[in-house]
Amino acid sequence: MYCPFCTATDTKVIDSRLVADGHQIRRRRACSVCQERFTTFETAELVMPRIIKRDGSREPFNEDKLRSGLMRALEKRPVSVEQTEKAINRLKSELRATGEREVSSEMLGNIMMEQLKKLDKVAYVRFASVYRSFEDIREFGEEIARLGNDD
Ligand SMILES: [Zn+2]
Repeated sequence: MYCPFCTATDTKVIDSRLVADGHQIRRRRACSVCQERFTTFETAELVMPRIIKRDGSREPFNEDKLRSGLMRALEKRPVSVEQTEKAINRLKSELRATGEREVSSEMLGNIMMEQLKKLDKVAYVRFASVYRSFEDIREFGEEIARLGNDD
């Protein structure tokens, strides 16, 4: 790749290590021309299924959108960024494991709920209440009661 400083094409890898639980490789590179150093990250590009929306239209899986959805539910909750990222990785593995080329947004929502449930129950209830738009308050109460029984 081009050196981001002088656009020379001759760069050398001087260090590489696994990061993000082995999901990424971080490489330190040095430009042979200007000697500047920079870092690159390498991740596997895995094909994620497309998402079928409620209206039947399809859209590409969007990790940023998924992350912001989870973050919204986890706002002010005692869950670290690292835990959240791990949950996102598990979620993606689960989606890929379906072996489907397309999955419904409903299924994606259910997988998100399952992951949130493991992370933080308040966040789970928050997400579920928006996502499932509980029909009535009784249904919501039942869901919370069910959570209590899991412990
Ligand atoms: Zn350079």
